[in-house]
Amino acid sequence: MNETLNRFGTLQKFDAGGGEQGMFCSLPQLEKAGIGRISRLPVSIRLVLESILRNCDGKRVTEANVKALANWAPKGTRTEEIPFVVARIVLQDFTGVPLLVDLAAMRSAVERLGKNPKLIEPLVPVDLVVDHSVQVDFFGNADALRRNLDMEFQRNRERYQFLKWGMQAFKTFKVVPPGIGIVHQVNLEYLAKGVLSGRGPDGSTALYYPDTLVGTDSHTTMINGLGIVGWGVGGIEAEAGMLGQPVYFLTPDVVGVRLSGALREGVTATDLALTVTQMLRKAKVVGKFVEFYGPGAAALPVVDRATIANMAPEYGATMGFFPIDGECVNYLRATGRSEAQCRVYENYYRAQGLFGMPDRGQLDYSSELELDLGNVVPSVAGPKRPQDRIELPNLKHEFEAAFVKPLAENGFGKEIGELSRTFQVAAGNGGRTGGGGGSQESVSPHNARARNTNPTTELEMANNRPTPDTVQSPGASLKGEVRHGSVLIAAITSCTNTSNPSVMLAAGLLAKKAVERGLRVNPLVKASLAPGSRVVSDYLSKTGLQPYLDQLGFNLVGYGCTTCIGNSGPLPAPVDEAIGKYDLVAASVLSGNRNFEARVHQSIKANFLMSPPLVVAFALAGRVDIDLSREPIGKNPKGEEVYLKEIWPTLQEIRDQMQRALKPEIFRELYRDFAEQNPKWNEIAASTGNVYAWDAASTYIQEPPFFQKFTLAPGEIREIRGARALGIFGDSVTTDHISPAGSIKKSSPAGQYLLGHGVSLEDFNSYGSRRGNDRVMTRGTFANVRIKNLMVPGIEGGVTKSPSGEVISIYDAAMKHAETGTPLVVIAGQEYGTGSSRDWAAKGTALLGVKCVVAQSYERIHRSNLVGMGVLPLQFKENVTAQSLGLDGSETYEVVGLGPGLKPQQDLTLQIQRANGKTERVPVTCRIDTPIEIDYYQHGGILPYVLRQLLGAA
Ligand code: SF4
Repeated sequence: MNETLNRFGTLQKFDAGGGEQGMFCSLPQLEKAGIGRISRLPVSIRLVLESILRNCDGKRVTEANVKALANWAPKGTRTEEIPFVVARIVLQDFTGVPLLVDLAAMRSAVERLGKNPKLIEPLVPVDLVVDHSVQVDFFGNADALRRNLDMEFQRNRERYQFLKWGMQAFKTFKVVPPGIGIVHQVNLEYLAKGVLSGRGPDGSTALYYPDTLVGTDSHTTMINGLGIVGWGVGGIEAEAGMLGQPVYFLTPDVVGVRLSGALREGVTATDLALTVTQMLRKAKVVGKFVEFYGPGAAALPVVDRATIANMAPEYGATMGFFPIDGECVNYLRATGRSEAQCRVYENYYRAQGLFGMPDRGQLDYSSELELDLGNVVPSVAGPKRPQDRIELPNLKHEFEAAFVKPLAENGFGKEIGELSRTFQVAAGNGGRTGGGGGSQESVSPHNARARNTNPTTELEMANNRPTPDTVQSPGASLKGEVRHGSVLIAAITSCTNTSNPSVMLAAGLLAKKAVERGLRVNPLVKASLAPGSRVVSDYLSKTGLQPYLDQLGFNLVGYGCTTCIGNSGPLPAPVDEAIGKYDLVAASVLSGNRNFEARVHQSIKANFLMSPPLVVAFALAGRVDIDLSREPIGKNPKGEEVYLKEIWPTLQEIRDQMQRALKPEIFRELYRDFAEQNPKWNEIAASTGNVYAWDAASTYIQEPPFFQKFTLAPGEIREIRGARALGIFGDSVTTDHISPAGSIKKSSPAGQYLLGHGVSLEDFNSYGSRRGNDRVMTRGTFANVRIKNLMVPGIEGGVTKSPSGEVISIYDAAMKHAETGTPLVVIAGQEYGTGSSRDWAAKGTALLGVKCVVAQSYERIHRSNLVGMGVLPLQFKENVTAQSLGLDGSETYEVVGLGPGLKPQQDLTLQIQRANGKTERVPVTCRIDTPIEIDYYQHGGILPYVLRQLLGAA
């Protein structure tokens, strides 16, 4: 018997189906061993506990970790970090490319050491889904999908070549190519197995364990709807997980949300998700697990659970988890998973005592909330935040209120009288076409293409949707009327909803009824349909609903993230110009999950999240300042008013169509062989071999220098001496400040680097797309135009003082210090590194030569990422700040007390030598928080640590 796996005598057998037996680390047995009242623990905690128990090796995971989590107290204080070893990793392409770059760099380093590069292999399965790179350039016509895909391949060829190399080089690294779907929907429909297995300790009986994962996209939580534990993490944590290291997180509170009742007629899963988001935001669930249970949860199909789980980042929870039950088995079966898989899934969770939806009083939660699904009403959320839910009839009033609210109060700061003004979007010969009312104005197109006088390129209302060559062009000729509150983007987008056939079919049914009643969408509305998998197209086509969506402009534009991440593509130039010229508060309606300002589109100020059928409804209405419960949605060709309730599909109609939506054989067929079904991907020529042939000329993919000076033995932890400040920052410096994601300024160091490498300004692309090139990313570190370095008071942007005192870019200053071998420090205020988890915020810091950050407090993930990159995080004691110490960057710094015996959270001394020669000793706390982090730090970061482990084992 394997003693490591048989901790506390928990290794047991169960009936794996088909006459087979399986082994598992039994949680009921752990309870029998007297380790804790495990059967009272929330299901989500028990699933994490299984991982801790199974991976308990005394080093990465200890028996103390098992005991601590087995004795999770609902209202305990939360100081312990949990070392969670996940079963697999999912990546999207923006974050996945730099991860693959690091793996490739490790292989190059191993080869240089004369060892077998194949030693470097992800230790858990990794699936990367290319979904973030498609943009809605073409829309409103039958050719949009193909043309957007062409454009995507053209823009991203170099990155895709690299991914193809990765696919053939690593056994456990798989890529779902572009044009297949969205990572979380693909995960739900295909990648997730529910229960996984590996070689058992006796060599013959398989060992089964729960499917758990982390993903480099915050909406990884969608999979919680299928009873699978998983959430979004930053790149460095994902790399650690990939290489078999635990992902650390603070022991969470678990908020139990008991659902009862059922959704009423006319109410969708999206309405429920928006209601839950608002309710849980108010309940302050940030950093907590949320676990839904009760009869209402039991009655929800998995697709509805997944819609709610997907929005966990919007309500702030680490997870929005639904326990495992018969509905999960139904879903697995309906989506083409094999009978054997479904059987072992059910049997495994039954053996673990984890099968079935709990109800009141059965489990202990940190706090409990209730929601009667019967009270949920049709809703939208916006105009700026997903938690700002508005009941549908109140939208008109709420928009008007936001319209006049001062900017300082997050409103739009307009006069109410402006709402009634209309403006003509004009095209043709460039002349003004306004008029027709005292308040009407017109705007003409601003470029030569738009001044095309060919009347056939002008868009007409009625039954004609835009032709491809007119609308896709930024200078397309358009005419029509816009006003504040006009809907100019209507996007059925985001895995949040496109994974849910009930709302997608509802959109199709509503489109059908609208078309049959003679309703049309104004061509000024940029409509799009971007499902998260091809299964959606299959059922929309088989049910005969897609043609109706097409007639309203909701033609298929791609299978990817599109508008959900702001890849909504350009608006037609005359429309965009009208918005700018008249400072219009124009609106988007989308079935996405985020609507922060400028996220959906730079020019669209009011963004409303809603269900797919409501997206179609608002596209038809053409404006958001409308009460669709009382006002007509439009007029039929006879001039008769049509109301939303007349075209809204009934639950029965949706159910009837649902029967045709989930066909196991379709899932099997569409997820069978991606490459075969994707000729463009096949056409991409990629290099082969186990080691990547780095191309020195590439501006997208470069070998990072993390392993350039790699030696087999780690160095010793030593004091930092003679360091200079690179930057002194105030409170709330975000990862966006440290590592910007948006456009690259021409005058910035990264811009100058690209120009110097022959990249023209229009081909700069974004920092996000260049995350595979450390030269760009290091130059971009601290290059945010809004960052304020207190060493150069009064100046915004990424500048600092050079060693000789001139004001220069942070990158240039870092390079000058590097010439003299001077270590650098960054001093910061409260909550250093808040915002999205971004691996380049820590990588760039390390590559600039920063050895130590001293802050008043840290965002959790960025702190651990700094350690993961070998940068020492120190924390000032209470009430000590850069200001209280009078620091201005002229000082020299030493970190005293650092040495081989370093302990987690040990006190150290920051010795400050002033320019006048005076010395001050400031006590600080070392924010290396755990023993394994000491190892990481000593090795210069997680990657060298893991590399040495692997080489040591070779
Ligand atoms: S559709 Fe939206 S939520 Fe889903 S993976 Fe893409 S960006 Fe994330």
